[in-house]
Amino acid sequence: MIMKPCTFLLAIATSYLLLLVNATPKSTYHSLFISNSLSDNASIANHLQILTRRPHIAGSEANAEAAVYVRSVLTSFNIPTHFASYQVSLTLPLSRSLVLTNSPAPETATNFTLRQEIYKGDPYADVADQAVPTFHAYAKSGAATGPVVYANYGREEDYLTLTQIGINVSGVVIYSDRKDCGGAGKARWFPDDKWLPPSGVQVGSVFLGKGDPTTPGWPSCGECERLTHDEVEKRGDVPLIPSLPVSGEDGDKILKSIGGPVAKDDWQGSQDAPTYRVGPGPGILHLNYTGQDIIATIQNVIGVIEGEEEPDRFVILGNHRDAWSYGAVDPNSGTAALLEVAERLRKLQKRGWKPRRTIILCNWDAEEYGLIGSTEWVEENREILASRAVAYLNVDAAVGGPEGFQTSATPQLDELIKRATQQIKDPDNSSQTIYDSWTGSSSSPVIGRLGGGGSDYAAFLQHVGIPAAGIFFGSTGYPVYHSLYDDFTWMQNFGDPMFQRHVAAASVWGLVALWLADEEFIPFDYVSYVKELQLSFKVLENEISNKDINLTPILTSIKEFEKAAIMIKNQRKKLEASKGWTTKKEDHYFKVRELNDRLMMAERAFTDRDGLFGMSWYKHLIYGRSKHNGYGSQSFPGIDDAVIIAKDTKTVESWLRVQHEVWRVSRVIKQVSLVLSGQLT
Ligand SMILES: [Zn+2]
Repeated sequence: MIMKPCTFLLAIATSYLLLLVNATPKSTYHSLFISNSLSDNASIANHLQILTRRPHIAGSEANAEAAVYVRSVLTSFNIPTHFASYQVSLTLPLSRSLVLTNSPAPETATNFTLRQEIYKGDPYADVADQAVPTFHAYAKSGAATGPVVYANYGREEDYLTLTQIGINVSGVVIYSDRKDCGGAGKARWFPDDKWLPPSGVQVGSVFLGKGDPTTPGWPSCGECERLTHDEVEKRGDVPLIPSLPVSGEDGDKILKSIGGPVAKDDWQGSQDAPTYRVGPGPGILHLNYTGQDIIATIQNVIGVIEGEEEPDRFVILGNHRDAWSYGAVDPNSGTAALLEVAERLRKLQKRGWKPRRTIILCNWDAEEYGLIGSTEWVEENREILASRAVAYLNVDAAVGGPEGFQTSATPQLDELIKRATQQIKDPDNSSQTIYDSWTGSSSSPVIGRLGGGGSDYAAFLQHVGIPAAGIFFGSTGYPVYHSLYDDFTWMQNFGDPMFQRHVAAASVWGLVALWLADEEFIPFDYVSYVKELQLSFKVLENEISNKDINLTPILTSIKEFEKAAIMIKNQRKKLEASKGWTTKKEDHYFKVRELNDRLMMAERAFTDRDGLFGMSWYKHLIYGRSKHNGYGSQSFPGIDDAVIIAKDTKTVESWLRVQHEVWRVSRVIKQVSLVLSGQLT
């Protein structure tokens, strides 16, 4: 009789204690994360200024110094941080020359300086020499001489036009046309305007693979197996003719030396440009390039915030650090945003927040050469990532101008990204949300897909099958891309003067990560994935006119996928409703965990051991590299490539291969349904 009230009191006391411990729900921390009180645009600007004070190409001392900076900032936020280093094969230019003769007369010759001019008042003039001379990474060493031909953007279809008039190419010069980078003829450029100065050159890599070219599929750690230069060339991912990038100004001079037939309308330049002709000649170009292969040490910086309840489930955020020059837009606007996310997470931790799952912050090296840092790390940790990674959230450049928000993602993340942008104000119009501006007058916003291999998501998604997304504020075609003028001054004057776009990028990136790390149920919506595949299927149907190809297997597997996606949604609802009522706490935990595992592993099932035809590193059969469109983002790259070959060769065998690729895609979609439903056949 006396005991009962005591027990009763004790019970109250216990629940009161529990209430104290769990006083702040996770959602309160999430709202706090995106509030003005936690964001700090001055700190973002400061990080960016420090990261971009010198040119810092991969393998350089300046980039190693930047790695130390990123590590020290993360460590100062109490985030345990380490380097993941690799020895990788990079290339640097040893000698370059480009001479134009026979224009306007046989005796004249122009020897291009191949230098980007320092601008008036350039605060970085004293370190500009540390920038790598303009070149193409992994270009073939050699010489080429011949009459000049104009090839538009040098796309597959452009070369086809040239082949039709019997032209064989022995060297490539890529220039930046004013139509795209120079303000369409306006004679104003950086530092007076945002446009690329006439001597500006877009540096880049001509390697088509992913990761260190000498260690395809395995990590470049210390003493390891390595392909020779000849073996790399035989694999077909590096060009076999020399090339150089040049400025718009040099491009103009070369274009003026070309006679012959007038180029097609869509090959012409801006309105004030002279008429472009196709050639060949009479101008003759003499191109000489010698590159040097080096083995360099690169450093990824990895910070780990361990999860409290599910430390073996990873939500990974990544951005690269290396740049062709100062990299204020590409990539250090993203690095500054990453450090801002880390700082806000630290502020949450001080208020008592701990993530349910582990959050990993990654700062990659040697992305510009061919996604090397991220790829080597994923290859080294492949199996552990395959069994534990929930999602990979990439930000390459975070901000490139005022043109608004854009994103690309695997479709189960669509709803989550929309939800995040609905909670965050547009940095350029505080009267509405990012979602409102992003959607504009359409009924729903445009979400890109991750088919091409443009950034560090590639190894996570296309090699291992980890759901992935990328976000960016601005226009991807910002004018100073990969040039000497992508510096802090450009960002401060044109890219993001108030650094509010950086703040917004950190908010979206961090909020999506927090939801993935903290919500009891992983917030994936596979019904969106089904809808996306249905759309891709329609595109495919239109593309394949051959009536002998049977597309029904894909249609059937998408229908099964739809059933499984709806089923797991209902199972989740049921489990949520039963919480604390019909299930014991541990039982509930394991049931949730089992359902989450199915959500996490479903994307892996889109991968196939054999990978894409002739490109076995690319395991994902829905999103991957298409041989015919490196930056494209269409679905079903394997089918696409087979169709292009079949349409070209028109043989029975080539159409049989299309049918085979159709079957393969249908089989991986079927695997996804089985993983989602968790049922053996
Ligand atoms: Zn980049």
